[in-house]
Amino acid sequence: MLPDEVMSQAQQEMLDWQGTGMSVMEIGHRTPAFVNIATHAEQTLRELMDITDEYHVLFLSGGATHQFSVVPMNLLRGKTAADYIDTGIWSAKAVRLAKPYLNVNEVCSAKETGYRHIPPVDSWQLDDTAAYCYYTENETVGGVEFQYIPDVKTPLVCDMTSSILSRPVDVSRYGLIFAGAQKNIAPAGLTIVIVKKELCGDVLPFTPDLLNYEMQANDNSMLNTPPTFNWYMAGLMFDWIKSNGGLKEFERINREKSSLLYQLIDNSGFYRNDVEPSCRSRMNVIFHLPDEKLMTPFLQEAEENRLFALKGHKLAGGLRASIYNAMPLQAVQELADFMLEFERRHG
Ligand SMILES: *Cc1c(COP(=O)(O)O)cnc(C)c1O
Repeated sequence: MLPDEVMSQAQQEMLDWQGTGMSVMEIGHRTPAFVNIATHAEQTLRELMDITDEYHVLFLSGGATHQFSVVPMNLLRGKTAADYIDTGIWSAKAVRLAKPYLNVNEVCSAKETGYRHIPPVDSWQLDDTAAYCYYTENETVGGVEFQYIPDVKTPLVCDMTSSILSRPVDVSRYGLIFAGAQKNIAPAGLTIVIVKKELCGDVLPFTPDLLNYEMQANDNSMLNTPPTFNWYMAGLMFDWIKSNGGLKEFERINREKSSLLYQLIDNSGFYRNDVEPSCRSRMNVIFHLPDEKLMTPFLQEAEENRLFALKGHKLAGGLRASIYNAMPLQAVQELADFMLEFERRHG
């Protein structure tokens, strides 16, 4: 979901961006007009997340999954192993795609328990000589989210695809943060990489130029044509977050939105959430019905109430309310009202 304000601004500017007589879609990526859009978006993101000059901010194509391979190519820097924390299907996929390039040291895994918790820190097998330590802040499918930043000695790498900009974050704790745009930022097709400059430059042999962070940074992410319209949309979204109070305010609202649903679920003998309360996601609230047979009527009646996309991921089953930044509290309240009403009639 994208905010109505952002969508209408894009609509108003669609045929004529700021008096140029052209759409952003029609402007060349090296023109002063687009360079303005690009620089403004980067500056606003730096401001929102408090990103210092020690970091490159890259606007790339290829999606978040692409980074599962690109991270090892760039960050091994002569080493042969990296630490991976396995908390769900996205981290497991990152492990699978990293394996051709390195020895994966699995720090811990929640797989055996069906990815319902984050293994306690004192059980982790960290390797202080690893090239980096990788984790997924929010497991979008399982609804499991870190509520703290792991404390490690190696450069910390984080897939923040489904939680970026949902609360303030201390970027200085990280070596690299990446996020596909389509969950919390902009339409699909753009990936943001925030990477510490000192980690860049020593890539694996045969790394294609386009996948080389340093080369992309030297050319302002324009080694080839970037996804310009998505970059523009990301900029509008950053402006929207800024003008609505910034990350502290979004943290407050996101907490309120998710608590509303978790309280309803926990207080009901009807709905169920199996994730350990200390690591429940604020972005993706998973819940189950007492009987699978109620799934079809639930989804159908939800749609009749203009509540869409509540079916859980095929690997996880059940239901999932994805309540990213653009989802207003009011809409979550409407979902809660519907859930109570559904329980009253079917419970
Ligand atoms: C959606 C998602 C991805 C995959 O993103 P693509 O852009 O489709 O590759 C990766 N990681 C997380 C945490 C996600 O939620």
